[in-house]
Order: sequence, then C-alpha cells, then structure tokens
Amino acid sequence: MRNFNDAIILVTGAASGIGAATATSLAANGAKKLILADLDEGSLADFAFSLPCERQLLIGDVADERLWSNADLTGLTHAVVNAGIGAGGTIEEMHFEEWRRVQSANLDGAFLSLQAAMRSIRANGGNGAIVLTASVSGIKAEPGTAAYGSSKAGVIQLARIAAREGASARIRVNSIAPGGVETPIWNTVPFFTDLVAETGSEEAAYRAMSANAPLGRFAKPAEIAGQILFLLSEDARFITGTCLVSDGGYSL
Ligand code: NAD
Repeated sequence: MRNFNDAIILVTGAASGIGAATATSLAANGAKKLILADLDEGSLADFAFSLPCERQLLIGDVADERLWSNADLTGLTHAVVNAGIGAGGTIEEMHFEEWRRVQSANLDGAFLSLQAAMRSIRANGGNGAIVLTASVSGIKAEPGTAAYGSSKAGVIQLARIAAREGASARIRVNSIAPGGVETPIWNTVPFFTDLVAETGSEEAAYRAMSANAPLGRFAKPAEIAGQILFLLSEDARFITGTCLVSDGGYSL
C-alpha cells in the first residue's frame, strides 16, 4: 500500500488497459479524487462508477487544446499522462495521415496533458509528481514501428525536459517504458491481428510475440500500474527525469 490520501490525480486514457488499472490502484491506495480523461465516454463512465473515491470525468481528445482550456484541475497534485494509440507500418508504406494521427494522439496529447498538469500543480504550490507512459518502442528500433516508436521517444524526452523545468516547483516527472502489456490497444495493430489469426487466440499471439524476450511473456496492466504508483509515490522522491523500462528484458 502507498499513501495517496490527500492526492488529486489526473489519469488520461483511463477507460481501459494501463490507465484503468492505474486509476483502480490509486483509488485503492487512498486517492482523494481522480480526474479521469478519455475519448470513450461510455466506457469511462461505466468504469468510473466502480471507483470508491471522488471522481471527475474529462471526455474528449487529449490532443484538443479545448479539452484542457475547459478542464478544472484545481488542487491537482499528481498526473498520469497515459492516453495513446497503437500503430504499425514501415516508413515506406505508411501514409502521412497515419503518421500525423499517431503523433497527434501520442505526442501532442502528451504535451498538452503535461502542460495542463504542470501549470495546475505549480499554481497549487508545487510539490507533485507526474508519470508519462512511453514505450520500449521509444528505445528499441523495431522495423514497422516508425510512427509509434518516434512518438514514444518524444514522450521520453518530454519527460526529461519537464523534470528540469518542473524542479523549481518541486514537481518530479518520469516516464515508464513498458514492453508488451495485455490490453485492447493491440487489436488496432495490424501485425498483431494477423498473428491472432495465425495462432488462433490473443493469448497465443502474446506468447509468440514474447517468445524471444528473457521473461518470455507480456505484462498484465496491474503490474505496470504498480510501477506507475511507485514513481508517483514518496518512495521515488529522489527520482526525476528517468525512464523506467519495464519490458521483461525485451530491449536487452
Ligand atoms: P488501451 O487501448 O487499453 O487504452 C488506451 C486508452 O486511451 C483508451 O481508453 C482510449 O480511448 C484512450 N485514448 C486514446 N487516444 C486518446 C485521445 N487522443 N484522447 C483521449 N483518450 C484517448 O491501451 P493501453 O495499452 O492501456 O495504453 C495506454 C498507454 O500505454 C498508451 O500510451 C500506450 O501507447 C502505452 N503502452 C502500451 C503498451 C501495451 O503493450 N499495451 C506497451 C507500451 C506502452
């Protein structure tokens, strides 16, 4: 258990996967209030209903400035900048619109969410923590991941620069770079859906994709959530500007 008793925490991409697992864990660890952002209004409302704490919903695209200019982030102490989309395709075959769509959701969205969170935490007297969800694809150069990997490399550097800029208000900023995690994001990635068709199930596709990684499996969303809570918590109070690679050794 970690103590988030007086915390008011923004989680983006909270309706599913890693974001939902993180919000669940924060609520279980005493968060006073969760501000949950997602495009998917129905899923977010259903999910938020189950949480045992005060919650506020922000429905819309994190890459739309209007979402943030209308958002009430009063009293914010922590943020998990997590919303993102998957993508696949080589540089030579990718359409520019697809490249732009990925940069918009993953990098523009992270920038605007981070900016809103830093401004609010500073206005609230500072002393907070932020985690951005990057990816091991932002570190390891894998064919077919140009758009996604470049957006996530951007997220890692954004967190590093934010760590330097936020330090004057005692705001710590870190990123996490998960390897494969069992979430619905994979259903939108063509090479994964092809593999599901080949192997017969999502579980078999996860196993096939991690066969060469040292720990030989995908992570569960709750495992990544636990590491995000560590980075947000007082246990990580001397850690800022780092990227925690959580990939079962995949990138070694
Ligand atoms: P997910 O699809 O289960 O959840 C992502 C959530 O973000 C969804 O609810 C979706 O509606 C929301 N979202 C997407 N774009 C949005 C936007 N522009 N505005 C508002 N909400 C938006 O996926 P996940 O795996 O939980 O992904 C969470 C984060 O983790 C993403 O940034 C993803 O890139 C990253 N990540 C995932 C994996 C993995 O293997 N699942 C690995 C590394 C990093």
